[in-house]
Amino acid sequence: MTTTAPDFRLDGRTALVTGAASGIGRGVALGIAGSGAAVACIDLPGPGLDAVLAELVASGVRAIAVPADVTDPESLGEAVRRTEAELGPLTLAVNSAGIANAAPAEEMPLAQWQRVVDVDLTGVFLSCQAEGRAMLRHGGGAIVNIASMSGSIANRGLLQAHYNAAKAGVVHLTKSLAMEWSDRRIRVNAISPGYTATPMNTRPEVAEQVKTFEAETPLGRMATVAEIVGPTVFLLSDAAAFCTGVDLLVDGGFTCW
Ligand code: NAP
Repeated sequence: MTTTAPDFRLDGRTALVTGAASGIGRGVALGIAGSGAAVACIDLPGPGLDAVLAELVASGVRAIAVPADVTDPESLGEAVRRTEAELGPLTLAVNSAGIANAAPAEEMPLAQWQRVVDVDLTGVFLSCQAEGRAMLRHGGGAIVNIASMSGSIANRGLLQAHYNAAKAGVVHLTKSLAMEWSDRRIRVNAISPGYTATPMNTRPEVAEQVKTFEAETPLGRMATVAEIVGPTVFLLSDAAAFCTGVDLLVDGGFTCW
């Protein structure tokens, strides 16, 4: 009997990652590159974007950085155009750009609600639209949207109705696009992280809150970024060829309580 190992590699492909300057997006950009793909790093302009590009280039990876705002369809279109011109046809994408803040629902100004929905939900739609247009031209691809367990549960003690609603929207957007594009060979899936040790959660001022996050997570700690990267690379790879419309909760068991 012959055995065949599942294929988790991404060799020879071109990927685009939004939110690549920090946290999960940065880890995903490095992890995709380590799995063999060329990577376009997309984020707001700043030192984080320059640093991740420098790290990729220093390790011999074909990579570019394109400053772009995920709420601006023109800058996303330009990011895809540059990615394809400099790295080749786009067939992989991960949408990780996002923001979070908090306010009691009864006091939340419309502008605060709107900004979170614009970046965290509309930004994911516009990213998928720009990426999907390119993938449809090339006969297919795979997209992973970084949603959140907050799309399935309302986090105890966190006043973030806007964020939770936006993330629930990302999960259903993912399923909707997966169905629209299923017959044109684009797979669209979501990763929903639980509490993860990124700059968002490692600031000294949130140290006490993080102790609660850890105590409330069945595995007793936050996820490392690497623990989100592995499942993301899996969903991009041919090992996940029959997965589409999945919301993969990577939450240390949090949503089982
Ligand atoms: P992060 O470290 O703050 O990274 C998010 C990145 O997105 C930052 O570089 C940010 O830039 C960028 N960004 C923000 N607005 C943007 C825009 N309009 N256009 C382009 N880029 C923009 O956060 P993270 O913890 O890695 O989170 C990544 C994703 O995972 C988010 O969607 C988040 O909701 C989700 N998530 C995180 C956790 C967690 O516990 N950390 C849990 C569940 C889900 P600036 O820094 O300049 O704003």
